Amino acid sequence: MDQLLTLQATRVKPGPRRGADLNELAIIEDGAVLCLGGKIVSVGTTRDALRDPWLKKHRKSVREIDCAGKIVLPGFVDSHTHPVFVSPRLVDFEKRIEGASYGEIAAAGGGIRSSLEAVRKTTKSALAAKVLSALKEMASQGTTTAEAKSGYGLTLESELKSLEAIREAASQWPGTVIPTLLGAHVVPKEFQGCSQKYVEIVCTEMIPRAAKRKLAQFVDVFCDQGAFTSEDTEQIFEAATAHGLKVRAHMGQLSETVLQPFLRFRPASFDHMDHVNDGDIPRLAKEDTVATFVPGANYFLGLKDYPNARRLIDAGVPVALATDYNPGTSPTASMPMAMSLACTHMKMSPAEAVAAATINGAWSLRVAECKGSIEPGKDADLAAFEAKDYREIPYWFGANHCAMTVLNGLVSSPA
Ligand SMILES: [Zn+2]
Repeated sequence: MDQLLTLQATRVKPGPRRGADLNELAIIEDGAVLCLGGKIVSVGTTRDALRDPWLKKHRKSVREIDCAGKIVLPGFVDSHTHPVFVSPRLVDFEKRIEGASYGEIAAAGGGIRSSLEAVRKTTKSALAAKVLSALKEMASQGTTTAEAKSGYGLTLESELKSLEAIREAASQWPGTVIPTLLGAHVVPKEFQGCSQKYVEIVCTEMIPRAAKRKLAQFVDVFCDQGAFTSEDTEQIFEAATAHGLKVRAHMGQLSETVLQPFLRFRPASFDHMDHVNDGDIPRLAKEDTVATFVPGANYFLGLKDYPNARRLIDAGVPVALATDYNPGTSPTASMPMAMSLACTHMKMSPAEAVAAATINGAWSLRVAECKGSIEPGKDADLAAFEAKDYREIPYWFGANHCAMTVLNGLVSSPA
């Protein structure tokens, strides 16, 4: 292959990549990777691999994949997706083009709430089929690990059904899925004016049931104007922690929220982060909580402003990139698209975008011990792109140049 981006750390530093380390991709020219039983066994140059005594002896039984003219990097870790929905929201799309705001669309019965009815009515297996097709589309564009949230049911029954659909789809996909309970996505209509009652249901019914049945690893909250307050979020984090689930949150998409009070819960990630309080930045720089940008949402909403990535990166806050795949505000499964937007609109370097889409995505899901870089002992999750230089990934926007993915050792070529 032309370039092998290993993302191996050059210095031993615990935690996610920050600052200048985001630019270090540890590239091997003309590299080779040996995988066995779904794991990476060795990484080096093709020359060294060909001299390896074990490989010489076993060459006949090894499947060789020639990646000449391609680059290979760790499979993308898409750490923020909402794949459990039934239909695209084409009315919202059109209304927004005509000038309606996020709030106006929500007030007119659009937005997140308009996806609820279909999810509540649809069977688990039909939802699983939707999730599986999304996972396959992600893999066709280089993603090998995806987080998947519930959050379009918002009743105990339909949230558990959504998580079961994620589990069913994950069992049929060779990649890795990290499930998240997002019961606190928005306050459903039935609870308007008594949102506290809904928060109680999330805390005393959804979280305990999801935890007991091991249907979720994370609990997420949409903490913002028109969704859940900081107090609600703390209450939900409290319940999640008590039931052994890790926490993450949608933060700062529409307005600024002071983040410091949540840090005691050691959140894995704060996502969106368009609006961040100055006072929080030095604190975040000391934590392992990743700031996950989802510029696909800014793009699709037609916003002129994007998250200020430079301000966070330069201060030492670890950052990741994700698609926010969802039917309302970011209908894309393409990590290369998210990376392209990060480069063109957020002034992240192509190298920073790669690190944010791989190793730091893995950190934001707390799976960095086995995902996000090409190192012996880690899972055999790779993506090969038709390119001579990794910078071509964010450069050729709007077209899929992914030639192949390897998901836990299983080779898959885009259809
Ligand atoms: Zn989201």
